Amino acid sequence: MNINVTKPFLPPVEEYLERVRGIWDRAWLTNNGPLVHELELQLRKKLQLDNLLYTSNGTIALQIAIKALRLKGEVITTPFSYVATTSSIVWEACEPVMVDIEPEGLLIDPKRIEEAITPATTGIVATHVFGNPCDVEAISKIAREHKLAVIYDAAHAFGARVHGRSVFAYGDIATASFHATKLFHTVEGGAVISSSDELIDRMALLRNFGHATATHIADVGINGKNSEFHAAMGLCNLPYVEEIISARGNAVRRYDANLAGLPLQRQRLTEGCEPNHAYYPVIFESEEILLKVVTELNRHGIMPRRYFYPSLNTLPYIHRKFDVPVSESVARRVLCLPLWASISKEEIDMISTVVCDAMST
Ligand SMILES: *Cc1c(COP(=O)(O)O)cnc(C)c1O
Repeated sequence: MNINVTKPFLPPVEEYLERVRGIWDRAWLTNNGPLVHELELQLRKKLQLDNLLYTSNGTIALQIAIKALRLKGEVITTPFSYVATTSSIVWEACEPVMVDIEPEGLLIDPKRIEEAITPATTGIVATHVFGNPCDVEAISKIAREHKLAVIYDAAHAFGARVHGRSVFAYGDIATASFHATKLFHTVEGGAVISSSDELIDRMALLRNFGHATATHIADVGINGKNSEFHAAMGLCNLPYVEEIISARGNAVRRYDANLAGLPLQRQRLTEGCEPNHAYYPVIFESEEILLKVVTELNRHGIMPRRYFYPSLNTLPYIHRKFDVPVSESVARRVLCLPLWASISKEEIDMISTVVCDAMST
């Protein structure tokens, strides 16, 4: 059987069925039902957030965030992220202006943000890459000085903390993804988080077709709601999150020990952060070595993923040229090794052995 880059966590099926029975009893399937409310409440409590809206996925969360902040013109963003970060900006008719990442934390470089600001700039969309928090203080200082809005794509960052707070608490708006491949998931799902009541109200409207009331449409909206079945999965998974993060931490330490001594670069974690172990990225010295390792892993039925390749400035719909050599270089050399909560020691050792062997021949 193949080993994929990740395996979704599933709660005991009885726990899900119990929630589903409740849905049957109420015959309320979607449109801000009681389970959606309960999930929002529990997420707010667990992560100590002022407010959070559950959405159908993390991409629509980004689009709603961009719309709610009325971004237009140029939006400064990172070329080293998942494609949804860039496509959401383009989809919302803004122009992404890509600035390079710094080579150790793999996060957008605040110095370069400042250099890229023009009179047309309205906002910054930055990603907490692999759950590693951006330099939130530097970015918010720049944003304040230049009156720019900040959105954090926090799709990887569930459970990660910086200065003791959830990373979701930073930015005008943070967006989350609860896709099945993410650390905490609701099959499909996402969220927008903000401490501004005004933004939350606007996003609630945007999420629901622009309905202010049943008969009053106040703005152009979209369908960004999520269902009771998805919320039920979230409610079943949420109590296991601490266990999931700690099991992933153990797996990461085992990989670290197994792969110690190989010429592999690791992502430097941001100072003051508590990581969530959402991914296990390793950076090779060259793409050639990476390809050799991937071939060997594949030959053993192991399917790592090249998160994130290619660098987003090379997307076919990005016509402007950006000078982002660090992102282009890292994108060619980074690989995420398989990692999930219940991955076994034997699986980690087997994968590590294949990596070691491939790199020593
Ligand atoms: C997964 C992901 C998204 C998109 O989330 P979906 O819920 O799949 O729509 C956006 N940004 C990043 C960085 C992601 O990894």
